[in-house]
Amino acid sequence: MRWSETLIATLRDAPQDAEIASHKLMMRAGLLSKLGGGLYTFLPLGLKALRKVERIVREEMDRAGAQEVLMPALQPREIWEQSGRYSVLKDAMFKIHDRQERDLVLGPTHEEVITDLAARQISSYRQLPRTLYQIQAKFRDEIRPRFGLMRAKEFIMKDAYSFDTSWEAADKSYQAMYDAYVRIFKRCDLNVKVVEADTGAMGGNFSHEFMVLADSGEDGLVECESCAYAANLERADRRLPPQTEERTDQLPSPVATPNQKTIAEVAAFLKRPASQLVKTLIYVADGKPIAVLVPGDRDLNEHKLARALGGVTVQMADDRTIEQATGAPVGFAGPVGLKIPVYADAELKVPRVYVTGGNAADTHLLNVVLGRDAAVTAYHDVVTCREGDLCPKCGERMREKRGIEVGHVFKLGTKYSKAFDAGYLDAAGNRQIMVMGCYGIGVTRTLQAVVEQSHDANGIIWPASISPFQVSLVVPNVQHRESMVAAEALLKELEARGIEVLFDDRDERPGVKFKDADLIGLPVRAVVSERSLADGKVEIKLRTAADKMMVPVQDACQTLVDIVQKGTQS
Ligand SMILES: [Zn+2]
Repeated sequence: MRWSETLIATLRDAPQDAEIASHKLMMRAGLLSKLGGGLYTFLPLGLKALRKVERIVREEMDRAGAQEVLMPALQPREIWEQSGRYSVLKDAMFKIHDRQERDLVLGPTHEEVITDLAARQISSYRQLPRTLYQIQAKFRDEIRPRFGLMRAKEFIMKDAYSFDTSWEAADKSYQAMYDAYVRIFKRCDLNVKVVEADTGAMGGNFSHEFMVLADSGEDGLVECESCAYAANLERADRRLPPQTEERTDQLPSPVATPNQKTIAEVAAFLKRPASQLVKTLIYVADGKPIAVLVPGDRDLNEHKLARALGGVTVQMADDRTIEQATGAPVGFAGPVGLKIPVYADAELKVPRVYVTGGNAADTHLLNVVLGRDAAVTAYHDVVTCREGDLCPKCGERMREKRGIEVGHVFKLGTKYSKAFDAGYLDAAGNRQIMVMGCYGIGVTRTLQAVVEQSHDANGIIWPASISPFQVSLVVPNVQHRESMVAAEALLKELEARGIEVLFDDRDERPGVKFKDADLIGLPVRAVVSERSLADGKVEIKLRTAADKMMVPVQDACQTLVDIVQKGTQS
């Protein structure tokens, strides 16, 4: 492809709203063009790379035995009501209606559509197992779209769904997808960390996420320094540190804390470390107020709380509920004398002497011993893990990291198949319900994650497998006739061998062209110039190498073919 005939507009500077390296580089290298907040056009270079990611995904899905389908992006509201998810996800969905005022949504995911499909199409155990997938645009009404393709309103996903006769069979389908994901990300040259994940609104019973480690990542995770344990922060458990008991004969006594509401304020005011305070949070669980206690220096994890309480929905109570439950203004809640159920973090189980809120304005209580002074309904691990917490598997220290979620696999069970009555007749003629799994890959996000993980100060460094073109061919001075003749000949020869070449035939200064070549970041660059031809040579340089090779003109094509083939195999 000749640069002069394609649409590649590189930029000197990244747009203002591009905050992370990959977003800046994708804009600067002319891969994307912004239409509006969270909406991007793929320009020719970007689309070529995207198609390669899609091809890898498709090949590995097919290899794993999945079959491709294509479902509508437009979905009737009713199926979301049927699964019970309309109320949960309605704020995140684009809701529209047709001319007959029928409500529709633009699909953020397709569990509802596919389960409806399976209920219609599958009726016998002979048709199972089946795994179906599609590669399609998804829509999400992000409050704050940012980071380019990382959090866009429209993005491309590969979503797959498995249907099985039993939970054991569903495990096999899950493993097949898991293994396919490992291969997909390896082929994209992405270094991913597989972590245990929360099942959240998807309503399954176990899941893994595939995370690309990056400081710019929006997801937190912890990984053990010693064993293989790794988990998303929403999910991560911890082993409790050894603690010594602490007793006191003194009873709880009020202390005036005028206007000191937050843990930090109270700790500073009383000159005590936050760890000697207990934070009392009032929540509403399944419609009823509860109190949740966590150590003053820790954060409550709502996902873990919901799970500990048996999968109920939990949300922070509003001010009125807090005032009714505690009899005090917000900021002074404490467990002593509360009439609602009190749950506490497992770390608080060993008796110690704490400071808590006093359930009265401007008042806290000293000398509070949980269990003695306040009844606790149950202790659960409900805080968010952090750097230095102990691994739940082996007890060694865990590190906290940031990551970009590029894939997830969920074992869904029967939540959707029950809601849509997706059943089948078993060998004995009895009607059974199908067991499901669902599996997603953010295709556009994966593409950007590659750039986030693979770049330097000069630009993108594409892995051979998804590079938009395989070879960058540059003529620094297009006015030099012999250079152009030799380059045209090399282009023809390479294309005849099936190599994808981006030929920079623009009448631009050499400095501009070399900068652009590094910015776009194709794996190998060939330069044909007056100087190289004086020795009968072509200059060849890998994007990742500092050194150049001078190769005789007649060997240039074969050398480049060898480099491309080696790169694609590795
Ligand atoms: Zn461990």
